Amino acid sequence: MDSIQKRIYETKGGTRWVKEAKQAGLHYYNQPIEEIDGKYVTFKGRRMLNFASYSYLNLLKHPKIEAAAQEAIRRYGTGTHGVRILSGTLPIHEQLEQTIADFYGTEASAIFPSGYAANLAAIPALVGRGDIVICDRYDHASIVDGCMLSQARLMRFRHNDMTSLESQLQRADINVGRLVITDAVFSMDGDIINLPEVSQLCRKYGAYLMVDEAHSLGVLGATGHGIEEHFGLKDAIGIKMGTLSKTIPSMGGYIAGSRDLASYLKHAARSFVFSAPLSPALTAAAQMSFEIIQEEPERVKKLQHNSAILLKGIKSLSFNTLNTQTPIVPIICGEDETAYRMARLCHESGVYVLPVVSPAVPNGLARLRVTVTSAHSEDDIVYALEVFEHAGRSIGLI
Ligand code: PMP
Repeated sequence: MDSIQKRIYETKGGTRWVKEAKQAGLHYYNQPIEEIDGKYVTFKGRRMLNFASYSYLNLLKHPKIEAAAQEAIRRYGTGTHGVRILSGTLPIHEQLEQTIADFYGTEASAIFPSGYAANLAAIPALVGRGDIVICDRYDHASIVDGCMLSQARLMRFRHNDMTSLESQLQRADINVGRLVITDAVFSMDGDIINLPEVSQLCRKYGAYLMVDEAHSLGVLGATGHGIEEHFGLKDAIGIKMGTLSKTIPSMGGYIAGSRDLASYLKHAARSFVFSAPLSPALTAAAQMSFEIIQEEPERVKKLQHNSAILLKGIKSLSFNTLNTQTPIVPIICGEDETAYRMARLCHESGVYVLPVVSPAVPNGLARLRVTVTSAHSEDDIVYALEVFEHAGRSIGLI
């Protein structure tokens, strides 16, 4: 077997692994969801309560968002006919960029085909060979990939550990470009980066700061404006990155910051320049979603209320939930097998949750990744807690 065949057949995720997982009835990946309807999903013919959604504010299928997308198709068609830089820019792309900038209180923004594409392109546009990027150890894969592509020296600090960040900043040569990058809310752990200290350290050592708001948009802050609002800070972050595929029920990514930064990325970031932009429907859907977040602030309140009761409930069952403070609540299971079995038991009782295993999380820290949204009622959460308790007890996790 040559090395490529070995990868295809023998690695985790390779065909042998997938076949064995399927045979054991423990394969959860790439499985179609037949229907999504607010707090419910239909999976393998069964309607279940959905505790695995990223639609934190339940905006998916909002009638105004659907109407805006349909109107954009009527007006502009289903696709753009080229990359942004050469004839693919529509007025609604520019309108959305201004809306995102206004939402974050920045001068401008640039939108990208996805959040992944935003990180993959923006980081190498900002740093290169000879420069330094300093990342939290649990930063999202798209940040890590962007760093690798940049060829800058990648230094990592221990997860949310400010002493470790400071010691990396002290070690970094001050004569080269230095960029600190972190998630605002960590997607698998649900905890929040210590932004006040990170931004203060970046100031002290003259480093740039980029923060990925993928899981904080609509989630953190009294009106869902993200991590700066959460901590009552302004202008703490020079480069704000985010995605339009979670709270915002569309697709795409963005970088918000100064007018010069956005203009530079629109001429130099490779996925902006060499890949087609968001389709008209996706653009209009994202635009309307930002308007609704601001018009319907009760969604954010409800989400935060639901997060608090879910977290309190799971903790009171003495599951290990790490340091989460958000709608993302990990139930640590340890071995992959335990997470798979927990998921199966929950599904049998009508609660849809998904197991997350390495390499998405460290070995031995496999988990159920439970998420709550503004669509759930207190009764739904109480029911899910009963199911988690029953499943946890039957496999000896609690
Ligand atoms: N950053 C973080 C923290 C994410 O969780 C994700 C999506 N999993 C991305 C970036 C990538 O976003 P997208 O799905 O829009 O490519």
